[in-house]
Amino acid sequence: MKKDVVIIGAGAAGLMCAIEAGKRNRSVLVLEHMNKIGKKIRVSGGGHCNFTNINLRPDNYLSANPHFCKSALARFTPYDFIGMVERHGIEYYEKEKGQLFCRGTSGDIVRMLYEECRNAGVELLMNCRVGSITKADHFCVSTNFNRIEAGSLVIATGGLSYPELGATDKGFRTAVRFGLKVTQLKPALVPLVFGRNDLEKFSELSGVSFDAMVGFRGRQFRGEVLFTHRGLSGPVILQVSSYWIRRDEITIDLMPDRDAYELFTSKRKSRIELSNLLSECLPRRFSRKWCELCAPSRPLCQYTEKELKDIAHQIHHWTIRPEGTEGYRKAEITAGGVDTDELSSKTMEAKKVTGLYFVGEVVDVTGQLGGYNLQWAWSSGFVAGQYV
Ligand SMILES: Cc1cc2nc3c(=O)[nH]c(=O)nc-3n(C[C@H](O)[C@H](O)[C@H](O)COP(=O)(O)OP(=O)(O)OC[C@H]3O[C@@H](n4cnc5c(N)ncnc54)[C@H](O)[C@@H]3O)c2cc1C
Repeated sequence: MKKDVVIIGAGAAGLMCAIEAGKRNRSVLVLEHMNKIGKKIRVSGGGHCNFTNINLRPDNYLSANPHFCKSALARFTPYDFIGMVERHGIEYYEKEKGQLFCRGTSGDIVRMLYEECRNAGVELLMNCRVGSITKADHFCVSTNFNRIEAGSLVIATGGLSYPELGATDKGFRTAVRFGLKVTQLKPALVPLVFGRNDLEKFSELSGVSFDAMVGFRGRQFRGEVLFTHRGLSGPVILQVSSYWIRRDEITIDLMPDRDAYELFTSKRKSRIELSNLLSECLPRRFSRKWCELCAPSRPLCQYTEKELKDIAHQIHHWTIRPEGTEGYRKAEITAGGVDTDELSSKTMEAKKVTGLYFVGEVVDVTGQLGGYNLQWAWSSGFVAGQYV
């Protein structure tokens, strides 16, 4: 079988690339090893797909080359994707901080992509296992169906997270096979887990959550911290996890909107217990535990000035040292990927291998939490679709 374009992976980036290439009258075949397209899109955003973010800036992305993502994101912006969503009559809303979600379900986005593929004449081949990939004049892809020849080959196989939704390392292996560098991979947007000591200390806090400012090496994120039965999660922990380096400590400001020392001085003469005062701002279970571990609770009038200053400092700079992460099983995304030095930021084509393209999460461009990863998939898929 001969095609102009073969795309491996019917996820967000692969489908967007297929649609654009199909609109340019290329014969396009998408190979997907699962039984359905867009499995990750279906579960995204808790089933409501946080499909983009209208406050997007290039610095919402991590990459060895922070400039690489700029071109694609400027050529297919959140508003371009919103235009597509609106043309399909999909209702959406802004949840917070520019994050757009479907009012219905993520299935609306998958249906939209499917319809766009159909209109553009794209062929989709499900349950397709891809074997060897070689290149002479053309790319030759062997599958469990037949051998396919194509002028352009697009690798849109995503990252390593959530293997049950179809993730494989095929994209990274293909890059290496064609002599392209892949940067260090790690699970990102992932809950952190405690070592044995902390696990014992915090086990009774499982399910407790509060608003905090969490910092790691100069980066600060604000949002909910959640204690789990294994460690820490919640949106702000997921954000920090993408930057976190194993066994390093993170700093939590437990009272980001209040000056703890001022609060203490305002109650300086009172007999209120420290843990009761803290539970005005933090969950009671947490403040009791925190006092037990960091500042044994007494009536406020019994502390010296210096002790109160120290406690206030700890409230704003509480440090905790997780042991690891929940790994790819629970990571929303894989950080790292095909080295951007190997690719053209304008077309996503490999500089060394004419006709070979990499789009979406398989590339070393990792978005923060909030719709940025899907937007990268749309944008990188779109630009590649203009050149394949
Ligand atoms: C639980 C969860 C929730 C998320 N929520 C959001 C969100 O709300 N907003 C957001 O922006 N991002 C979210 N993300 C991240 C987002 O889903 C991904 O960044 C995005 O889907 C990446 O698109 P992609 O096309 O590069 O990869 P994918 O969407 O993962 O698509 C890759 C495709 O390739 C297929 N494939 C892999 N290997 C092979 C092979 N060897 N042969 C054939 N096919 C193969 C896979 O089955 C899959 O269909 C979430 C991720 C997870 C896991």
